[in-house]
Amino acid sequence: MVVKPQEVIAELYAAGGRIDLNLDRPALLVPARVRPRIEPYQHLLRASVDLPEVVRRAAIFRERITLWFRSGRIGVPVVTLSEALHATVGSCISCGAALAQGNWRCPTCTAALYEALRPTAETTS
Ligand SMILES: [Zn+2]
Repeated sequence: MVVKPQEVIAELYAAGGRIDLNLDRPALLVPARVRPRIEPYQHLLRASVDLPEVVRRAAIFRERITLWFRSGRIGVPVVTLSEALHATVGSCISCGAALAQGNWRCPTCTAALYEALRPTAETTS
């Protein structure tokens, strides 16, 4: 069975885990209950997710989501980077990168979006 990095990222964040974006020692913070499921795919995430870009994109996505909510809208906006203006079918909806397997968001943007939507001390106070 082929596992997509986007699926592993979704499962990681759904279980309360996340990617530690401390770029000096990037790591997956994996809750014990999903560790047997996630750990075999750490190499997949390391190979497909650009951590410095997750940091940059998460900040942009978080800002756009915040503006969305402050404008009184509901739901979550389709967050995009300025470089995605020319995205086409088969490319990431957020950054415009070509996608090989029919996904609509690349692993780096997927991780950045989950990170942007993760509650922080600022959003939970
Ligand atoms: Zn992307």
